[in-house]
Amino acid sequence: MASGGGNYRNGTHRSSLKGTTTTSIDRPLSVNSNPSKPALKTKSLSSVGASSGLRKSSPGSLGAAKDDAGVPGRVRVAVRLRPRNAEESAADADFADCVELQPELKRLKLRKNNWDTDTYAFDEVLTEFASQKRVYEVVAKPVVESVLDGYNGTVMAYGQTGTGKTYTLGRLGEEDTADRGIMVRAMEDILADVSPESDSVSVSYLQLYMESLQDLLDPTNDNISIVEDPKSGDVSLPGATVVEIRDQQSFLELLHLGEAHRYAANTKLNTESSRSHAILMVHVKRSVKGREPAHSSENGNSTNMAKSLRPPLVRKGKLIVVDLAGSERIDKSGSEGHTLEEAKSINLSLSALGKCINALAENSAHIPVRDSKLTRLLRDSFGGTARTSLVITIGPSPRHRGETASTIMFGQRAMKVENMLKLKEEFDYKSLARRLDIQLDKLIMEHERKQKAFEDEIERITTDAQVRITEAERNFADAMEKERLKYQKDYMESIKKLEEKWMMNQQKQGGERKEQMVSTAEEVAEVKKLLSKETSLRKAAEEEVNNLKSQLAQLKISEASANSEILKLQKMLEDEAYQKEKLEGEISMLQSQLLQLSFEADETRRRLDRGGPGKVPGGLDSLIAQVRPQLKDSGNGEKASIAKLFEQVGLQKILSLLEAEDADVRIHAVKVVANLAAEETNQQKIVEAGGLTSLLRLLGSSEDETVHRVAAGAIANLAMNETNQELIMSQGGISLLSMTAANAEDPQTLRMVAGAVANLCGNDKLQNKLRGEGGIKALLGMVKCGHPDVLAQVARGIANFAKCESRASTQGSKTGRSLLIEDGALPWIVQNANNDASPIRRHIELALCHLAQHEVNAKDMISGGALWELVRILQECSREDIRTLAHRTLTSSPTFLAELRRLRIDF
Ligand code: ADP
Ligand code: MG
Repeated sequence: MASGGGNYRNGTHRSSLKGTTTTSIDRPLSVNSNPSKPALKTKSLSSVGASSGLRKSSPGSLGAAKDDAGVPGRVRVAVRLRPRNAEESAADADFADCVELQPELKRLKLRKNNWDTDTYAFDEVLTEFASQKRVYEVVAKPVVESVLDGYNGTVMAYGQTGTGKTYTLGRLGEEDTADRGIMVRAMEDILADVSPESDSVSVSYLQLYMESLQDLLDPTNDNISIVEDPKSGDVSLPGATVVEIRDQQSFLELLHLGEAHRYAANTKLNTESSRSHAILMVHVKRSVKGREPAHSSENGNSTNMAKSLRPPLVRKGKLIVVDLAGSERIDKSGSEGHTLEEAKSINLSLSALGKCINALAENSAHIPVRDSKLTRLLRDSFGGTARTSLVITIGPSPRHRGETASTIMFGQRAMKVENMLKLKEEFDYKSLARRLDIQLDKLIMEHERKQKAFEDEIERITTDAQVRITEAERNFADAMEKERLKYQKDYMESIKKLEEKWMMNQQKQGGERKEQMVSTAEEVAEVKKLLSKETSLRKAAEEEVNNLKSQLAQLKISEASANSEILKLQKMLEDEAYQKEKLEGEISMLQSQLLQLSFEADETRRRLDRGGPGKVPGGLDSLIAQVRPQLKDSGNGEKASIAKLFEQVGLQKILSLLEAEDADVRIHAVKVVANLAAEETNQQKIVEAGGLTSLLRLLGSSEDETVHRVAAGAIANLAMNETNQELIMSQGGISLLSMTAANAEDPQTLRMVAGAVANLCGNDKLQNKLRGEGGIKALLGMVKCGHPDVLAQVARGIANFAKCESRASTQGSKTGRSLLIEDGALPWIVQNANNDASPIRRHIELALCHLAQHEVNAKDMISGGALWELVRILQECSREDIRTLAHRTLTSSPTFLAELRRLRIDF
């Protein structure tokens, strides 16, 4: 049955003759004109009705219909009347049957009452005399033929219990062959037509009771599910037992078995078989031989390979034989002890079938196929693609007129159901796969055999070759041995021959020898003479050579002594050059000191010039007054006038003013003393008169920075003398000067102090004392003021100190690191080695050269960065003497040389 609306097929030739007698009726279900001819192949039998030619080979009237569109095939309905049974014959003896059959007109008249009947047309009308054989041929045979041709087919019996459904379908006819029913005869025809090699027939047998589908071939299987292919709509029962049928006997046994199981099941369920539906399914699978598939486009000359790869075509027809439950309404009788619910359930499938057939007959939009299991199972049988024959069975008894009428109406409606028959033809990929598998296995076996044969052949050839090789080797060895022996023999023979020859020669030569001996002795004497001559010549030559050699050695000795002389002279020359450089350095220093002194003198003069009369006390006042006009003079007149003043006033008087209570007086006095001290000629007198001591005391006592500055300047001047230097030191000059520096604000004060200390630094004897009293530290302490004049003095002091140290080291009176380095002067030295102010730079450069002359300072100098400065001095210094000094210093120090090599610096 088609599912849903519009999918069913509705016949065009359907009619009911109800109430008429003349309307043309449908074609008979069978046109078999020769029922006695049993041959299944008879075309007249298989072509059931001209309008339903199924075989493609017979185009029939529907040649235009496409294969996949199917062929229209209306449900055929035959009515069969059961003969009166004994009871009916007895009970209804006086009554006529409720139906009257007109088989030749294919009509049935149903008596309504004594005077009125309804007439119905059927595809076939089978009287109570119709034989089982005829019933089969009319009802079932066309369906069976269709199934054998690859269509689905359905044969179904519908009717009241006891009207002969089972008789018609299920009789086994074992006692009387004529009794055989449709199932048995259908199987006989099928088995006769199929070929056991290529085709297969298999069977399932089921019972549907109260919506439960039971397997009659395996009673444990009592709830089989129905599976529908959503695409094709095909229904299958994967859970049902399927038994392959090879002969009729096994089929009969199967039916027996099914019947027994049905009986057992019904006993268990306390029901009768009339309440259940029995369903036999016969699957016929046939391979289509010698025919191209309907949709194949290949022509006849395809290769064997292509053929073998083409899947075989199969047709799968399915015959369903349904022995329905009794159509009577049990809820009406209520006699079987079922509840109403149970009754409904028992009749569910049957009433659903009736509803579907009504819907199909009325061309309804919705066909309630899914309402019951029966309708789902039979969806292809009504409104589907199967060829369907329905036999409705009726009894003659007027007592069951109602049931008979309803059965007739069911049949009438079923006749209106139009199916669209479709060939179930498909490619059998499974069997192709099987066939290919077999082919593949054959090929594998063949290959294996060939492989083995090939390997055997290879082995045979190998063995053969091995044998030949061995043989060849042996032959070769034999030949070699033979050859060897032959040569040995030949050799021995030739040796023998030679020996013989030699013997013969010996004998022959015996006579000739005596003559030869005389001349030989003469030759020997000659040779000896020549030899002795050669020997004496050689001796003479040897003597000559020895002589020359000793001369050469003499020459070499004198050359060596000359060389050492030259070296000595070179060394001396170098020393001289060094001394000269040193002297030059000193000269330049003295020159700078001279410059400085003259500058200071100038300044003193200027100050004196500026200082007005003010509060200068009497004596000094007049002194100044005397001096002033002269001070205005320039040039030499100035010094002369101070000298004059000095003589006029008296040194003692001037010095005493240094301690005057009046500050101004003190300032003037100190300025005068300073001016005097600038003159070398006055210095000794000033010192002798205690001037130096007074000046030093002023540094400590006065708080006036001018006093400090001028006094320091005076001390600085006095400090140029070696004796004065010792004096200054002994009177605590260093600490006084340091203190003055610490309190100074005017850079010029610092310049004076630094100048004084710098002078002290130049004293060889005072080095340790000076350093011990913090002289170096005091010097370094002054650099923070940053004034270039101060820095120049500091640099000069350091250079002086370094020079003295260097001297002491050279003389061996000093060992160990430079005290300058000890006191931390090196960083400042390195920092100012390239100072823009040339006085600073020159002093520092000299200081570095002095420090570098002593290996003991080398390490500190390298780590302090002094080496770079020395290299710079060597390369850049504008003064040649300093450059030379730097060069000598660097080349004479192994430490510096090693470091320079390490840094890959060439100079
Ligand atoms: P159903 O299966 O419809 O209930 P059955 O096939 O069991 O009916 O038949 C009931 C009885 O009637 C059986 O005893 C059967 O042998 C007998 N019977 C039915 N049809 C015929 C017939 N055409 N000829 C002779 N006996 C028949
Ligand atoms: Mg029955």
